[in-house]
Amino acid sequence: MDVSLLLDGLNDKQRDAVAAPPQHMLVLAGAGSGKTRVLVHRLAWLMQVERVAPYSLLAVTFTNKAAQEMRSRIEQTVGVSLNNLWMGTFHGLSHRLLRAHYQEANLPQGFQIIDSDDQYRLVRRVLKALNLDEKHWAPKQVQWFINARKDDAERPGTLTHGGDFNLQTLIKIYAAYQEMCDRAGLVDFAEILLRSFELLKNNAQVRGHYQQRFRHILVDEFQDTNTIQYQWLRLLAGDHARVMIVGDDDQSIYGWRGAKVENIQQFLKDFPSPETIRLEQNYRSTGIILKAANAVISNNQGRLGKDLWTDGDDGEPISLYSAFNELDEARFIVSRIREWRRQGGKLTEAAVLYRNNAQSRVLEEALIQDGIHYRIYGGLRFYERQEIKDALSYLRLINNRQDDAALERIINTPTRGIGDSSMDKVREFARASSQTLWQSLQQMLHQKELSGRAANAVSAFMELINKLDDDIRDLSLDEQADHVIHQSGLYAMYQAEKGEKAQTRTENLNELVNACANLNFSNNEEMTPLSAFLSQAALEAGEYQAEEHSDAVQLMTLHTAKGLEFPLVFVCGLEEGMFPSQQSGDDPTRLEEERRLCYVGMTRAMQKLYLCHAESRRLYGQEQYNKPSRFLREIPAEYVEEIRLTTSVSRPTQFNRFGSAASHSAFENTGFKLGQRVHHEKFGEGTVLNYEGTGNQSRIQINFDALGSKWLVTSYARLTAL
Ligand code: ATP
Ligand code: MG
Repeated sequence: MDVSLLLDGLNDKQRDAVAAPPQHMLVLAGAGSGKTRVLVHRLAWLMQVERVAPYSLLAVTFTNKAAQEMRSRIEQTVGVSLNNLWMGTFHGLSHRLLRAHYQEANLPQGFQIIDSDDQYRLVRRVLKALNLDEKHWAPKQVQWFINARKDDAERPGTLTHGGDFNLQTLIKIYAAYQEMCDRAGLVDFAEILLRSFELLKNNAQVRGHYQQRFRHILVDEFQDTNTIQYQWLRLLAGDHARVMIVGDDDQSIYGWRGAKVENIQQFLKDFPSPETIRLEQNYRSTGIILKAANAVISNNQGRLGKDLWTDGDDGEPISLYSAFNELDEARFIVSRIREWRRQGGKLTEAAVLYRNNAQSRVLEEALIQDGIHYRIYGGLRFYERQEIKDALSYLRLINNRQDDAALERIINTPTRGIGDSSMDKVREFARASSQTLWQSLQQMLHQKELSGRAANAVSAFMELINKLDDDIRDLSLDEQADHVIHQSGLYAMYQAEKGEKAQTRTENLNELVNACANLNFSNNEEMTPLSAFLSQAALEAGEYQAEEHSDAVQLMTLHTAKGLEFPLVFVCGLEEGMFPSQQSGDDPTRLEEERRLCYVGMTRAMQKLYLCHAESRRLYGQEQYNKPSRFLREIPAEYVEEIRLTTSVSRPTQFNRFGSAASHSAFENTGFKLGQRVHHEKFGEGTVLNYEGTGNQSRIQINFDALGSKWLVTSYARLTAL
C-alpha cells in the first residue's frame, strides 16, 4: 500500500503527529481541528508503516459508536480485519478485561452489568435490610456516594470515617451493597472500571501480559478521563507502551462526574519526554461560527490557550431566535428544518441540541406533528424501556440465576400471584442467610416456608426459567430472544394492554429480536452470544437506536454531541437557569463547565448555527420566565442576526417584563398569534397563550383578563382579534 495515502488530507502539523516516531504524544487542540482524524490515521500508520500488529494496539474512544465507526474506517484504509484490535470506551475495554479474566477478578462467569436503575433498587433493598430510613438516606445520594468512591478507587475497607456518624453509615451501606452485588454476580458501571483496575494492580501476571501486549495506546477525548481511568491507563501502559493522548481542555464537560482535566498536566509529568503537538486550523465550521465560539470560551479563566482559525469562508451569520415559549421555539426549529429539506438538505444533517433530556418532548411532538422523522441519540434509551428491560431480565436470569436485580423485576411480571409480602419474606430470608434470591427461593420451597399458593407460584416460576434455559440452548440469539419473549408470557401481557402505548411496546419487543439478529460479535471471543449481547445492551444502553428511518433529524443533549459534527445545528433553551443551568448558580467552576458545554455545542455546527431561547418555558409542570443566557451576550453582535418573523405584531402585555421584544410565530391554524389580544363574546378580552392540535382538533388557550386561563376549541370559540 502507498504510504503517502495515509498522509493525504492532512496538514503539516497533523502529519507530524501521524508520522512521528514511536513516542509519547499529546495532541492538544481546539474543536474541529482534526484530532480524531489524526488518531485514526495514526493507528493506520502504526500498522502499515511501523508494522505494529493490530493485536498490540489499544484505542480508547468516547462512545461505542465512535469505536465502531473508526474500526470500519481503518479497515477500509488498511484493508485487513481488525478483530484483534482493542478499541472501545473505558467501560467497554475494562469489561472485556473482566470477561477474559473473570476468575482472577473474583467474578462468576455469567456476571452481569447493572444500570443505574437496577443499582437504585439494590440500594433501596440494602437500606431496608439495614433498617435505615430512606428519608434520611436518600437512595440517589447513597448511589452517588458509592459511585464517587469507586471512581476514586476507594473500597469500604480503605475508607475512614474519623468518627463522623454519617460517613460511617454510608460506608456501612457501601459495604453491604457491594456484598449483595458480589453474591449475585452483578457489576455496576463504576465497578467495571474499579474491578478491572484492581485486577491489573493486584495480579502481576495479568498486568505483565497486557503490558507486554500493548505497544501503543491511543486515547481520544482525554480531557474527560477521571481518576480511575487515568490510573487504569498508567497500569496498562507500564514502562513500554507509547501513549498518545488527544484532547481539548476547552471541551472538558464531565467535571460533575469526576473527570479531571488536570490529567493532561499529570500525563506530561508521568510519561517521559512527551511531544506536544498543537493543531490550530479548524476544518469544520465557517469563520463566523468559529469566531463566535472562540469569543464565548475566551470568558473562561486558566485555559491552556489555543488559537483556532480557519481559511474557509465566513459563512452565514448565526441566527438568534427569541421564542415566545417552548412551543414556539419548537415550531420555529421545525420550520427551519423543513426549509433546509426544501433546499435539498438531508434530515440527518440537522441536529437539535439541548441541555436537559426533558426538553426533547416538546421538540418531538412538534416534529411528529409535521411528519418529520427524528432519532434521539443517547436519550430515549431503547434498552431502558420498561418492556425491553423486562425481556432482558428474563434473558439475564436464564444466563445467571443469581442475578437478583433481574429476578426482582420479573418474578411477578406477568403477574403470577407472588405478592409483595411473599417477596419481603424472601428478601429477609436472603439477607439472614447471605444468599441470593434464587437460592433462597429454592431453600424456602424445600423447607416449606412459603404459603401453599405462593409456593406453587414460585415453583412454577422457577420451572419456567429452567425450561426456557433448556429450550434455547441450541437456538441462535434472535431465536432465543423471540422464544423467551413469547413463552414467558411477556408478549401476551403487553398485547392485552390497550392503546397506542401497548402497540409500541410489542413493536419494541419485536425490535429487540431484530437487534439480536443484527449484532455482530466478532470481537467477543470471550463470551457466549447471549452474555455478549446482554453486556452490550448494558454498556450501550444510551447509544442504541432502532434504525427505522435512515433520514432523520438528530436530537441529543449537548453532552452527547461531543466529538460529532453536523451541517445544521440548533442549540435551544439558551436561558439563564436552563443553560447555564440553575445548579451552576454562582459557582464559577461549574459556570465555566457550562460555558465549555456551550463551546462544544456551537462548534458542532459546520455551515449554519441557530441559537434559540424562549421567554417563557413550561418544564417539569412549571412555568418559568428566564432571561436570555449570558452566553448569548458573549457573542459579538456582528456575528449574529436576530430573526423576526414577519407576521409578528404587538408585544404581549403580560410577557414583556424582561423588556425584550417578543417575536411571535403565526398561529397557522386559526389566524391568531401567540400573545395576541382577542375578544370572546362571553369571557371578554384576553391574550392568546398557547395552542395545540390542528383542524377540528385545534384548541387555543386564552388568558382572560377577568377569568384567567382557559382552553377553548378554536372552531367554536368565535374569537375576534383586537
Ligand atoms: P472535536 O474536538 O470536536 O472532537 P476534532 O479535533 O476531533 O474535533 P475531527 O472531528 O477530527 O476534529 O475533524 C473535524 C472535521 O475536519 C472532520 O470533518 C474532518 O474530516 C475534517 N478535517 C480534519 N483535518 C482535515 C484536513 N487536514 N483537511 C480537510 N479536512 C480535515
Ligand atoms: Mg474529536
